[in-house]
Amino acid sequence: MSLYDRFEQAFMPNYGVPPVALARGEGTRVWDVDGKTYLDFIGGIAVTSIGHAHPALVEAVAKQVATIAHTSNLFLHEPEVLLAERLLGLLDAPGRVFFANSGTEANEAALKLSLKYAKRTGRSYLVAAENGFHGRTLGALSLTGKASIRDQFGPFPTDVRFVPYGDADALKAAVTGECAAVFLEPTQGEAGVVPPPDGYLRAAREICDATGALLVADEIQSAIGRTGHWFAHQADGFTPDILTLAKGLGGGLPIGACIGFGDAGTLFDKGDHGSTFGGNPVSCAAALAVLDHVDLDRVRSAAARLRGGLEAIGHPLLKGVRGRGLWLAAVLSEPVSGKVQQAAADAGFLVNALQPDAVRLAPPLVVTDEEIDAFVAAFPRILTEAAG
Ligand SMILES: *Cc1c(COP(=O)(O)O)cnc(C)c1O
Repeated sequence: MSLYDRFEQAFMPNYGVPPVALARGEGTRVWDVDGKTYLDFIGGIAVTSIGHAHPALVEAVAKQVATIAHTSNLFLHEPEVLLAERLLGLLDAPGRVFFANSGTEANEAALKLSLKYAKRTGRSYLVAAENGFHGRTLGALSLTGKASIRDQFGPFPTDVRFVPYGDADALKAAVTGECAAVFLEPTQGEAGVVPPPDGYLRAAREICDATGALLVADEIQSAIGRTGHWFAHQADGFTPDILTLAKGLGGGLPIGACIGFGDAGTLFDKGDHGSTFGGNPVSCAAALAVLDHVDLDRVRSAAARLRGGLEAIGHPLLKGVRGRGLWLAAVLSEPVSGKVQQAAADAGFLVNALQPDAVRLAPPLVVTDEEIDAFVAAFPRILTEAAG
C-alpha cells in the first residue's frame, strides 16, 4: 500500500491526502519519497525561513537537544532569555514576551490579554477583519473572519465584530469606547496575500489611540524577514500594542510568541497564563539560528527579482502579482489554482493553491537568483499546462 493510502486510512479526513510526500530537503530543494526533486516555493507555509537543513539550524538544534531539551516553565533557561532579548532588540518599543508553540497559541495569549484588558476597563467586544485568519483553536477561531471554517463551531463566548479589511471608515465606525481590541494582519495571508491600502494600518493605530482599544498585529505569517523587514508593521509606520509571531520564527521548529508593548506587556499577573512546552530550549535555539541567518538585504533583492520576473510574464492566465517581499500571490484570471499547483509539481516546483484564483509563493528567504530564475522561466509553461 502506498504512503498516501496509508495516510488516508490512519488520519482524520481534515487535511485530505496531501499530493506529495516529502522525504528530505536541503536549502530550497526537497526530495519526495520516490526521489523526485522540487524547488520549494512555499517553504512549509512561510515557515522554512533559512531553507531546509540549514547547517546552522541543524547544529543549533542538535547541540541544544544534546544539552537540555526541556525544562518546562518551572525552570528558566538561557536560550529563551536570549531569544526574548533578541526579538525585543529588533522591535521599536519596549516590550515583554510570552512564548507558545504555534501561531494559534500566540493569538490565544493575545486574546486573553485583550479579555483581561476588557474586564479591567469595562469594555465588551473585539473587532477583527472579514476574511482574516488567526488560527484554529476556539479563541483564535472566534477572531477568524471566514464563515466556512468558523460557523460550524460557534457560537463563541467572545463578541467579535467583523469589518471589511482595508476600509478605515468601517473600522472607525466599529471601534467605539466599548471595544477592547482590534486584531489585524498587516497583510492578510490566508485570504490570498492581500496587502491593505496605503495608510490603513496607521489609520487603525489612530482609531485605537482615540478610543483606547488595543491594536493587535497578527504577524504570524508576515514577520521574521518575510516582507524584507523584520516585522511587516515596521514598513507600515506603526507600533501595535500586541504582536504575535510564529511560522518563520523557528525555521521549522514549533514556536510562537506574543509580545506586549508598554502596559500591554504587563497585563498578565502571575498565574494568568502558561504553557508546558512554550519556548522550549530546542525551539529557542532554532529561532536564534534563524535570526542569525536572515539577511534582509538579500530578501529584498530576491523579492525584487521574483516579482519583476513574474510581472514580466505576459500570459492570459496571469492577471497580476500582489504581496510583499518573498510573500507573493500570483493572481489568476480564472479559478484554476489547483491545476496550477499540480502543473507546478509536475514541473518540479512546490507552490500553494491558496484561493481559487491565487497561488501563494513563499520560498525560503535564502532562495538563490538561479532558483528564482528557474521558477520564473518555468511558470509560463506551468500556466499553459493548467489552462489546457
Ligand atoms: C498560520 C497563521 C495562524 C495560525 O498559526 P498555526 O501555527 O497554524 O496555529 C494565525 N495567524 C496567521 C496570520 C497565520 O498565517
